[in-house]
Amino acid sequence: MLEVAVALPVDGVFVYRDLPGAGSLPSGSQVVVSFRGRKVAGFVVGHPQEPPPDAPKEILPILRAVGDGPVFDEAILDLCRWAAGYYLAPLGEVLCAAVPSGERASSSRRLRLTEAGRAAIDANRSSRLAAMALDADDRALLARIKKARSLSQGHMVRSSAAASRRVGFLIERGFVEVTDGIRGARATPKRVGVEGCGTVFAAGESLPRLNVHQEAAFATLLGALGKGYATFLLQGITGSGKTEIYLRIIAEARKRGHGALVLVPEIALTPQLAARFRARFGDDVAVLHSAVPPGERAAAWRRLRRGEVGIALGARSAVFAPVRDLAVVVVDEEHDGSFKQEDGFRYHARDLAIMRASQGRALAVLGSATPCLETYRNALLGRFGHLLLPVRANPAAAARPLPTVEVIDLRQHPPGSGGILSPPLAMAVERTLAAGEQSILFLNRRGFSTVVHCRACGLVLRCKACAVSLTLHQARGRLLCHYCGRVEPIRKLCPQCGSPSLEGMGTGTERVESQVRERFPGARVARLDRDTADGGRGRIDELLAEVGRGDIDILIGTQMVTKGHDFGNVTLVGILQPDQGIHLPDFRAAERTFQLMEQVAGRAGRGERPGRIMVQTYDPEHPAIRFLVRHDYDGFARDELARREAAGYPPFTRTVVLRLEGKDAREVERAAHAVAGRARAASAASSLRVLGPGQAPIARLRGRARFQVWLSGADRAKLLSVSRATQHMSLSRNVRLEVDVDPQSVL
Ligand code: ADP
Ligand code: ZN
Ligand code: ZN
Repeated sequence: MLEVAVALPVDGVFVYRDLPGAGSLPSGSQVVVSFRGRKVAGFVVGHPQEPPPDAPKEILPILRAVGDGPVFDEAILDLCRWAAGYYLAPLGEVLCAAVPSGERASSSRRLRLTEAGRAAIDANRSSRLAAMALDADDRALLARIKKARSLSQGHMVRSSAAASRRVGFLIERGFVEVTDGIRGARATPKRVGVEGCGTVFAAGESLPRLNVHQEAAFATLLGALGKGYATFLLQGITGSGKTEIYLRIIAEARKRGHGALVLVPEIALTPQLAARFRARFGDDVAVLHSAVPPGERAAAWRRLRRGEVGIALGARSAVFAPVRDLAVVVVDEEHDGSFKQEDGFRYHARDLAIMRASQGRALAVLGSATPCLETYRNALLGRFGHLLLPVRANPAAAARPLPTVEVIDLRQHPPGSGGILSPPLAMAVERTLAAGEQSILFLNRRGFSTVVHCRACGLVLRCKACAVSLTLHQARGRLLCHYCGRVEPIRKLCPQCGSPSLEGMGTGTERVESQVRERFPGARVARLDRDTADGGRGRIDELLAEVGRGDIDILIGTQMVTKGHDFGNVTLVGILQPDQGIHLPDFRAAERTFQLMEQVAGRAGRGERPGRIMVQTYDPEHPAIRFLVRHDYDGFARDELARREAAGYPPFTRTVVLRLEGKDAREVERAAHAVAGRARAASAASSLRVLGPGQAPIARLRGRARFQVWLSGADRAKLLSVSRATQHMSLSRNVRLEVDVDPQSVL
């Protein structure tokens, strides 16, 4: 008998029989089964002896097996099982997320309109519509299917739980019918590059000699390698030689015939980083970038699975890469927010990486200059080993002092009217230019003006679908919603009072760029933010290469400038408005702002000449600023941990947020009250706290009202059982409930 997790957002696993005459399929195999009258893809996850008590009387055989062997080994299945339990996600959905799309057998069920469906959106018969209980969204969906003739159901199901429920409703009522068929996994594309892992190590003499700190850290890791599970925090400033340590410990693991997995933030996965791994390990590295086409990604997956390649290097989802005999798991910049998957199956890749190491008795190495406070506390408590690299690795760089951090009190040095650069910072930029050196100006908001308001009546232009103000993008001549992507034309007249008094407030990178160009007409100025990134990954790499060659004098950018690159000639970093980030209504605001500031500070003074950081702020006494001046992350972390403990925030408690969304605010609010009530009842007599329901800080997103219920407490098992209780409530089909375990976003 086979236990199958189906690739649908449904809870639980289901039993099927093997195909008559065929041998038993191993766990991890992909299959097609008939499920509730439909053909769906699924994965074999177990081989029970007896059918479970709730199994149907007649157990069906699977319809067929897909592919030429299991896509998961037991180790990754175990990881997925754990993840499904921990994140309260259906196992089938987790497994889908763990396979690259090129490897997935996807259901190619197509949706088509029935006669009734066509009638329902036929304008001439609108009188009949009223009786049919179809809302505008239902009709819009019918129209979409009609226009496309047919639509992939898998696509709809994956797009959102609400869409999937809507489709189900329309099928049930006979407006839509489904045609079946399963598309198998793609065939392996032709191999490119060299086979196997022949010459993988560069010649010994070309490797730098480790400094004493690196030596000590490496010796500790070496001592732990192959001795079972352990996690180490490798804390070291940018340039302190963390990557060199990763390379060495991985080389050792490979020498012993074991595999390694390296996770980095998506935007840090640059050609330079990949080249560094390739220089050391040749073809023994599979680089799993999102820019890699699905077919190649699937091929890389197979090479890893067959053991032809021993090292996987990738972003978040590479945590599921089928590395064989895994001995080392590295998470670089472990504090980075991009490790959290924020839709569908919401997981944290760092935490899964640790779990994977633990299940596989491997070594986990978490590297950061500014570890997240959860990790930091685990190191303080001795749960993680704590390795420190306090100086720059390059001996010449180590001899130079760390860049100085100067605080510019904006109350004393206000920028000229409408400007953003305070006089001292403007002066410093000018001197840097004159010296033929480069500056970086960091502001974590893109666009020109972040708010457009009317001077006559006070109206603020907001997105029609979201409760957020629109950002003015001057160069594109558009107003943009940064939350839903909605684009609107720039207007001259106020839509409320008709006066020509609309005005932009709040500065984004685009306005900084225009002010800098005006102020330093001879300078070569460039901007790097998501708008630049619209030119594709290639455009980013190109721009960074220009900066590296010294072809840019002043680089203005968002957090995209903080990562991954070694610019030798940058001697000045200006941090323009940290206050904005520090005072966000989020308990992690200070931590995040400190991390960003320290990271961008690390861009300065990496070459021959010393660096200088200038921070403009109205709040020079804020701990994030005070500790930054001394480059004292530990001081900051201890201070911040004390605050978190006093307030009962993570890492001293664990949290789950229950998010409810729907068109009708009152209906959502009612459901949110029901959910909060259920959570309170289920957590009675425990120390769990239930907060809410309350409107989410972004009260409306993409036309949907949003409410939240927060659960927090030290007892994780209780927290999960209470969350599960709310998941099983039957709510209105117009309201969607999402459970986010260990949420990173409070919005
Ligand atoms: P991190 O990952 O902490 O930013 P890297 O490992 O990238 O640091 O090291 C920073 C720079 O110093 C790189 O150019 C690297 O090649 C070099 N480097 C690393 N270790 C040494 C060493 N022991 N001696 C000399 N140079 C080193
Ligand atoms: Zn007005
Ligand atoms: Zn919007």
